[in-house]
Amino acid sequence: MKNEAQPFQLTLLGVSGALPARGLFPSAQALTIGNRAYLIDCGEGAQIQMQALGISPLRIHQIFISHLHGDHFYGLIGLLGSMALAGRDKPLDIFGPRALEEIIQVQLKHVGPVPFPLRFQPVDPGKHQLIYENKAIEVYTLPLIHRSPAAGFLFREKPRLRKMRPEMIAAHDIPYQVIPAIKAGADYQAADGSLIPNAALTLDPPLPRSYAYCSDTAFNENLPALVKGVDLLYHEATFCDDREDLAAMTGHSTARQAALIAQRAGVGHLVLGHYSSRYPDFSPFLAEAREVFPRTSLGMDGAVFRVPLNSAQTDPSSPEGELH
Ligand SMILES: [Zn+2]
Ligand SMILES: [Zn+2]
Repeated sequence: MKNEAQPFQLTLLGVSGALPARGLFPSAQALTIGNRAYLIDCGEGAQIQMQALGISPLRIHQIFISHLHGDHFYGLIGLLGSMALAGRDKPLDIFGPRALEEIIQVQLKHVGPVPFPLRFQPVDPGKHQLIYENKAIEVYTLPLIHRSPAAGFLFREKPRLRKMRPEMIAAHDIPYQVIPAIKAGADYQAADGSLIPNAALTLDPPLPRSYAYCSDTAFNENLPALVKGVDLLYHEATFCDDREDLAAMTGHSTARQAALIAQRAGVGHLVLGHYSSRYPDFSPFLAEAREVFPRTSLGMDGAVFRVPLNSAQTDPSSPEGELH
């Protein structure tokens, strides 16, 4: 069941590894939840891709940067410049390594300031903790294993209120002022003194949806517990089995290792990315990962993955059918 009014949608802006090759852009993605978009990493050219793929920078109020390798943040200053030219006045939060503020501020010092509040929010890449929340979602850091201190990000919708069954309002003559309490789980005491249990008055709300971004990282045995059961997992797959040694040496993963993380965490769907420029084509990545975890897709620039809104009282639709 798809509900376009409340999208939960990942758009891949760039899936290249450190050296861009074959026309792919470096790491950047936009996660659209409801009417907001969250930018995750901002490799060079991210704003070009946003324009091409219809992601308006005006909808972005939070940016999450995983680590200070250039392929994950060199697009930031360009994006900030364009936001300034567009006359942005709303504040922008940038979550990332502490030194990112210094890097950006030294550029702005010489170029000129942006006309909107830039709020740097340093994150501790070694900790799994809540770093941001609003009415709809929570965002947690995911400690990764990499040559530069790196954190992935876990996005999780907050539980929704229960759904009122409209026919029960009429049947029990329920006053409107008590409906918020019933949606929050309260029973209802009718005028004749009888108690009507909440389960008879409401339906289960749709389940909260979740997405985890894990790049860049070596094979990380701690990750499955942190991303257990997420609907969608993006995990880097810089190499294939043939270069497993190189993966370990450089703080990266193979496609098989990404699939092992997905399998152990029992995620809904795995998306691969951050491919090394050494590979002439990416089919071996998919084949290798699917041997371990069949519900895997190759991430490609411009690909969109939607997580449908399911009700606990309907059978979840097949992720394969909804993801594309
Ligand atoms: Zn990278
Ligand atoms: Zn890196």
